[in-house]
Parts: sequence; structure tokens; C-alpha cells
Amino acid sequence: MLNVVIFGAPGSGKGTQSKLIAEKFNLAHVSTGELCRRAIHNNTHEGVIAKSYIDKGELVPDETIIDMLDAFLEKLPIDQGIIFDGFPRTVAQAEALIEIMKEHGTKVSVLLNLEVEKDELMTRLLKRAETEDRSDDNMETIKKRLEVYEEQTLPVIEFYRKKRLYKPIKGVGDIDDIFGRISEVLNSLK
Ligand code: ADP
Repeated sequence: MLNVVIFGAPGSGKGTQSKLIAEKFNLAHVSTGELCRRAIHNNTHEGVIAKSYIDKGELVPDETIIDMLDAFLEKLPIDQGIIFDGFPRTVAQAEALIEIMKEHGTKVSVLLNLEVEKDELMTRLLKRAETEDRSDDNMETIKKRLEVYEEQTLPVIEFYRKKRLYKPIKGVGDIDDIFGRISEVLNSLK
């Protein structure tokens, strides 16, 4: 079973590529950012917690994220491969994911890291702020999110590198070309 983690800084294109991957490789797409935004929209207890962090550009506490993820995964068919988008974002989440996958009798196949330089990320995020109505896409929050990414999320790379599950992908250029590079890696795992 194919279980993919798509990794990268805010604005690296995780969401766009995840949708393409989910469709081509028949995977369930789970975006923890989307789970948060849905919880906020539905005004659930977890949503209220999530909003207070997201609006500041900070990470939502591991426990809240993991509870939301658990609830989502429970509803999936047992033989369904998954693409994780925006999770894990801390080493504690990476450790939790091992246990979660064990409970489902499976494991992570690969982590794909979309590599994009910081200037390009800023440009993309500011552009997205103009077209999408996301409360966390403003200059101040964007800077904070990139900082949090470097401090708390980057160490996740090392975690997967040690397990030999790490694959860097050049994340700039044409969307289809990036997807082509990803498909090559995923096809080689089948
Ligand atoms: P982006 O990667 O472009 O910032 P996401 O939709 O993945 O967009 O995440 C938006 C926000 O949701 C994050 O800044 C963070 O506050 C919260 N979030 C999403 N996933 C996680 C996670 N795995 N752990 C903690 N917080 C998360």
C-alpha cells in the first residue's frame, strides 16, 4: 500500500501536487490545514483551539491535530492508501504517525520534499493572499509561518532521512513538470 507524505514550506505547492497525486495514484488526500479550516468553519471545540494558533501563524498543538487526523482516518476503508499533506509538521507528529500507521497495519512509503527558495515562497504566498480568503495569508503571518517552518518543521526531514524514506523534489517550474518528477519517484516504489 502506498502512503505518501508530501512535505515543504508554506507556499511550496503541497496542496496542488497532493490533489494530482491523490487522483493518479488513487490515494485518500488528507490535509491537516483543511481539517483545521473545516473545524473552524463548523465552530467545533477543536476549531476554536485551531483558530487561535492559525491566525498567529503558529502551529496548532500536536494533540489537537492528531485527534482530528485520527477521526478522519477512522472513516477510511482499511486498504486505502493515503497522501498526507501538511502532516507531520513536528518530530512528535512524525513519531505519532508511525504509531497511527501501525494501528492501521501499514507504514509511510516515502516523504517527498518540495524544495522552493524562500524568496519564491514569499512571492507565492503574497499572491495567494490576493486571490484566496485565508485569514493567515498576510505579510506578518506569512513571515511567522516561514520562521515556524524552519524551527519546528525542518527537523522532520532528518527523521525521515535516517529511515531512508526521504526524497527531495525540485519544486519550481511548471506544475506538470513537478508532478512528472513526483510520479517518477512514486512509480519506482510500486
Ligand atoms: P500552508 O502549508 O500553506 O501554511 P496549511 O493549510 O497546510 O497551509 O496550514 C495552515 C495552518 O494550519 C498552519 O500554519 C498551522 O497553523 C495549521 N496546521 C496545519 N497542519 C498542521 C500540523 N500538522 N500541525 C500543526 N499545525 C498545523
